[in-house]
Amino acid sequence: MRSKQRGCSMAAPKHRRTALERVEKFISETYFTDCNLRGRLFGDRCPPASLSCFQTSRRIPYDEAVGQKFSPAKVGDSFGPTWETCWFKVELSIPPAWAGREVHFVWESDGEGMVWRDAQPVQGLTKEGEKTSYILTRSLKEMEPHSLTLYVELACNGLFGAGKGSMIAPPDPDRRFTLSKAELVIFNRDVYELLVDLEILLDMAQLLGEENQRSFQALYTANQMVNVCDVTDPSTFPAAHDLAAAIFSQRNGESQHTIHAVGHCHIDSAWLWPYEETIRKCARSWVTVVRLMESNPEFTFACSQAQQFEWVRSWYPGLYAQIQDFVAKGQFVPVGGTWVEMDGNLPSGESMVRQFLQGQRFFQQQFGRICSEFWLPDTFGYSAQLPQLMRGCGIRRFLTQKLSWNLVNAFPNHTFFWEGIDGSRVLTHFPPGDSYGMHGRVEEVLKTVKNNKDKGLVNHSAFLFGFGDGGGGPTQKMLDRMKRMSDTDGLPRVQISTPDQLFSILEKESSQLCTWVGELFLELHNGTYTTQAQIKKGNRECERILHDVEVLSALALARGSTFQYPASQLQRLWRLLLLNQFHDVLPGSCIQLVVEDALRYYAEIRRAGAGLQDEAIRSLCRDLLQPEAGSGESTLVLNTLPWERTEVITRTGPAGTETLALVTVPSMGYAIVREPVLPAQPVAVRRQADGSIVMENGVIAVCLDVMGRLTSLRLLDSQRESLPDGCCANQFALFDDVPLYWDAWDVMDYHLETRKPVTSLLKPLEITLAGGLRGSASFTLRVGESSTLTQEIILDAMSPYLRFLTQVEWNEAHKFLKVEFPVQVRSTNATYEIQFGHLQRPTHWNTSWDWARFEVWFHKWLDVSEHGFGVALLNDCKYGASAHRNVLSLSLLRAPKSPDATADIGHQQFTYAVMPHQGSFQDAGVIQHAYNLNFPLHVVPASSAQCPAWSAFSVSSPAVVLETLKQAEDRPDAVVVRLYEAHGSTVVAWLQTSLPVKEAMLCDLLEQPAAEGRLPLEQQGIRLSFTPFHVLSVLLVLRQ
Ligand SMILES: [Zn+2]
Repeated sequence: MRSKQRGCSMAAPKHRRTALERVEKFISETYFTDCNLRGRLFGDRCPPASLSCFQTSRRIPYDEAVGQKFSPAKVGDSFGPTWETCWFKVELSIPPAWAGREVHFVWESDGEGMVWRDAQPVQGLTKEGEKTSYILTRSLKEMEPHSLTLYVELACNGLFGAGKGSMIAPPDPDRRFTLSKAELVIFNRDVYELLVDLEILLDMAQLLGEENQRSFQALYTANQMVNVCDVTDPSTFPAAHDLAAAIFSQRNGESQHTIHAVGHCHIDSAWLWPYEETIRKCARSWVTVVRLMESNPEFTFACSQAQQFEWVRSWYPGLYAQIQDFVAKGQFVPVGGTWVEMDGNLPSGESMVRQFLQGQRFFQQQFGRICSEFWLPDTFGYSAQLPQLMRGCGIRRFLTQKLSWNLVNAFPNHTFFWEGIDGSRVLTHFPPGDSYGMHGRVEEVLKTVKNNKDKGLVNHSAFLFGFGDGGGGPTQKMLDRMKRMSDTDGLPRVQISTPDQLFSILEKESSQLCTWVGELFLELHNGTYTTQAQIKKGNRECERILHDVEVLSALALARGSTFQYPASQLQRLWRLLLLNQFHDVLPGSCIQLVVEDALRYYAEIRRAGAGLQDEAIRSLCRDLLQPEAGSGESTLVLNTLPWERTEVITRTGPAGTETLALVTVPSMGYAIVREPVLPAQPVAVRRQADGSIVMENGVIAVCLDVMGRLTSLRLLDSQRESLPDGCCANQFALFDDVPLYWDAWDVMDYHLETRKPVTSLLKPLEITLAGGLRGSASFTLRVGESSTLTQEIILDAMSPYLRFLTQVEWNEAHKFLKVEFPVQVRSTNATYEIQFGHLQRPTHWNTSWDWARFEVWFHKWLDVSEHGFGVALLNDCKYGASAHRNVLSLSLLRAPKSPDATADIGHQQFTYAVMPHQGSFQDAGVIQHAYNLNFPLHVVPASSAQCPAWSAFSVSSPAVVLETLKQAEDRPDAVVVRLYEAHGSTVVAWLQTSLPVKEAMLCDLLEQPAAEGRLPLEQQGIRLSFTPFHVLSVLLVLRQ
């Protein structure tokens, strides 16, 4: 009994530092491994009986892979290049002498591996995620097979892709990936347990500090364990382990903080790797989680993104069945309720509803319940409309942590109520450790307690642990560390928990919590409103296409009994759009391969959407459409927006000639145009002696200089000038755009100090349309070193806004192009459209919270107004802007080089518009005109049949926007109408319809009818009452 001899009558350690370092060396991976404990972790080793491989550029299924011809391979070989896949066949033969021992298959390489056994995925292996072992047996029995064949599918990419030189650099296409270890080993679990004990004690000794006696207790225990432990004699280990167990079991007092540890693996749906690789990352990570659950029945794992479940369901059905079992047991916990973890700023209100609708319906169908918490730990800011949308989708709880990345201001709370623009509130929690990828270390649990901003108000917090992005989530070691910390005096209590358990307790403790009103703005990554302009444009256009397809299809459904609403096609297209809203795709922070995928999905939505739109119009307007060989002297014009519109359209005559016509079309309906309407006043265009051009249409009058800049913008009614004396609007400006690190993500405050007005004229302004129904003028500028910009400035008859149709050949590096509109308006706030509403942000930089918002996001319009007058900027595909003092700037194009070196290079086209107005922007119809700019009228050649104009829906109040019309989910005989209050007012509105409605009821955003939600059908329509920014959904059952 050497331990006894060594253990008693030894002198106590005198010196803190030597004791600490002695324990460190005892468990060191670097020093003294010939004689320390770490050197004993593994016993005998044995190479595979044979190793062979085959390589492919495609991601192929197992069945296809194993049928290929495999060639001999060996440890030390390298494979590649980047994005290739190597399949290894590994024949193993376990030595009989290893009976009774724990045997691991150890695999180390710098690619991401998946072990297959008997045609099933069984283990993900990623060195960077500390997963290099597949456990073959915990204790080798004679009966067990000693020979077996495994396959390892090795992806030639790292956890974070293959950035050349830095993580976010564009991928190195030629990287090689090396197999550095493939062998059988004996694993000494008793050594491992002691190593975990000693690591925790050493951390306690170091991190609790010399003022804390627990630090010394931990140190002396660890020192004593080294004394007791003879690394060559495992019979000494239990005594050492008992010493550790004794100190870990000394408990806390009642007041101690409780940490709710939840396993997690944040998997970006695409980022530094393409979507296709994410499917495999999910499988590798989740199979690893399932293995851990088998041996740790208390282990829980929160998993978000319905799209990822759907991928695993269709590509790995065997694994998915195991996941379903663990979901039923409550260990594998679906969270979030959305289709993907989307960007929190740029998707439209309806897109955000669909994220939840597609997500919650998936979770309900697959797992029998919807999610009760919204989960968006990594997204770049959160719209102030989200609380209402969550509440409408069965969610009252929200978890994120990204605001810990704020560059300027520390967010003041970790647990609080978040109140949206309509007053809806959700209980919100930021894990106070400021991470969603913890490793279960002493340092992290101490930080969680120390950092918590709501001390004394709540005594529970979340701790999400596990490697993300293909790192395979939690490890056994993380679990074993936290077991030791479950209730140890000096450390917070750590319990394995679920989001539901945590939030249930926080709800009980919530009486004194603070409330944060308005958006959760991330003071970082503000370039993501602009980067990858084609993705932004794809998003806006496809939102419009799906809106129009749904409106037209729902109208066709309501009017014709034979029309088949394209529900499954629409679901497919919506899911493509929702996938592209993922928080590294829509923000533009992804590699070129992802951009190509995203643009392909948009192309598919445009292609299929156009077909669906044609079918719906054909069904809706069957008798009115032109017969094949018709004369076509009239035109059918359809309006998918809920108000009457009078606009200039372009129609194509029989000989292909384009002519303009002014038309009036009723709300959500159509009209046949034969004789065009004459405008009250035509557009007049004339050139002045100095080369400037004047245009006016009876509503506004503008003067443009030879560089296309506005030198005057007047409202004719009031003769009010919109521009300050001597200032030019529509002024382009170029800024140096070199952030500190996150290239595609960040534009820094200091870029504003590098402003250079664009004044290099290539082609001076000239008249392109002389007036009448439309006047226009165009010009070309040189921008920067090697880019050009051509703009057509268009004024239509009766239009209250001036349009700027812009083409750019963009070929810059680290430059930011904006267009500026100085206005003669004094206001300390500007108003920006967001999802289903708007909000205000300051135009001054008084405090750090104000100037940190030097670049902000918005949707279709922004406005700055003083009493009685204002100027709005509208756009058709831009999301970044600023309003500082009296200058409105629209952010147009960036040119970051990482992670996509080709970002935004090439041809770009976009339109914006300026609209001066009298009165408030609400009363002036800025909101409606921004919709009009984004949702052009549909123009179709028609037969000469007589037909009165037809309107399906109208709303009595201009404050209420009917945003969405679609077939109800699961109710083919009903449609859903979604409306919102857009002015920020309390109002009663009548919804009028000419459709055959049998019954109307209020429903939530998941289309569940509200209790007592029946709405009477009255002469004036359906009476709806709204509070500011309230979103209402109405289910209309149709008479068949
Ligand atoms: Zn992420």
